[in-house]
Amino acid sequence: MSPKLADVIAALEQAYPPHTAESWDAVGLVCGDPDERVGKILICVDPVESTVDEAIEAGAQLLVAHHPLLLRGVNGVPANDPKGALVHKLIRNNAALFCAHTNADSALPGVSDALADKIGLTVTGPLTAAPEEPRDVLTTFVPVADAERLLQALHAAGAGEIGDYREVAWTATGDGRFRPTANARPAIGTVGELTEIQETRIELTVPRRHRKRVIDALRATHPYEEVAFGLHEIAELPSDQGIGRVGELPAGEPLWMFTQRVADALPPTKWGVRAAGDPNRLIKRVAVCGGAGDSYLKTATRAGVDAYVTADLRHHPASEHLAAGGPALVDVAHWASEWPWCEQAAEVVRRAFGGTVEVLVSTRRTDPWTVGATSRTGGPE
Ligand SMILES: [Zn+2]
Repeated sequence: MSPKLADVIAALEQAYPPHTAESWDAVGLVCGDPDERVGKILICVDPVESTVDEAIEAGAQLLVAHHPLLLRGVNGVPANDPKGALVHKLIRNNAALFCAHTNADSALPGVSDALADKIGLTVTGPLTAAPEEPRDVLTTFVPVADAERLLQALHAAGAGEIGDYREVAWTATGDGRFRPTANARPAIGTVGELTEIQETRIELTVPRRHRKRVIDALRATHPYEEVAFGLHEIAELPSDQGIGRVGELPAGEPLWMFTQRVADALPPTKWGVRAAGDPNRLIKRVAVCGGAGDSYLKTATRAGVDAYVTADLRHHPASEHLAAGGPALVDVAHWASEWPWCEQAAEVVRRAFGGTVEVLVSTRRTDPWTVGATSRTGGPE
């Protein structure tokens, strides 16, 4: 039996976790009933009239798009508004719409991995690494007899999670001592007397999002009136996820040849692929960023790559970047740069549900540029 829409969404959100989307983004289910079954899915870059029609003509119950349909807040989806009309059309044809945008960009693998792969690059890391999830280290001391119970409580609250490991902790036994003063009501020992006791030192990491829960659990479970503990923030480290990718070609080649390689790797567009820089410059290390990568020009320079492949580059930033000695630029159509992701997302769903759902990749070019021309008159070169 074919999966429910909710199950397909769960598989997509595992590959492209929604919490990794940028704060301004609008990702997830736009319309559709999570309880209904999905037998056919179409994956596309742009949720526009031609891909909505393509989905309906193919008999798909779900259109998965990279770009959001409703990025900015709306108060309604009237059918006489272009976007509202698409929502109406989808619902009338029992088709859902789901978007994975910047969460698909930063995922591993994500949009730029698909682009790098098509070009033939071996990815070595992200262009701009997202920070690892913030973590703290908790250190506390507890009578040996209570150590196991406290550890269990701390783990239950979320402490001791590192990557794919759970219940990670470090312990050692040592000599604790304290002298309760007049107002103290010690669980162990006597007011005014120095008490010495064997204690277990427990050290474990705490995902910062669980900080309060873990400290609450510590205080609730530890037998002492006054719980001694230290909580330290771990320095922020870059993760292997993030926007864009850096990769390497199997062998260096001149920019003109590399530009042709990029053009051959992507679906054709009227604009084609253009490059900026010395046509004979040797290209081996390459940065890529699917979609508009204008804001990462300096990052590409810092990455020390030979070329940067992205979309939507503009005259002034591009010429200033080259004048400053930055990597050669290869400018492709925005739609074309993200189109390889469609096959990646299709594989995510195919792997999760095997033959119980048919997954198609859109074959319609939604690049808005439909005419291209080159001047046939003379002029400066
Ligand atoms: Zn895009």
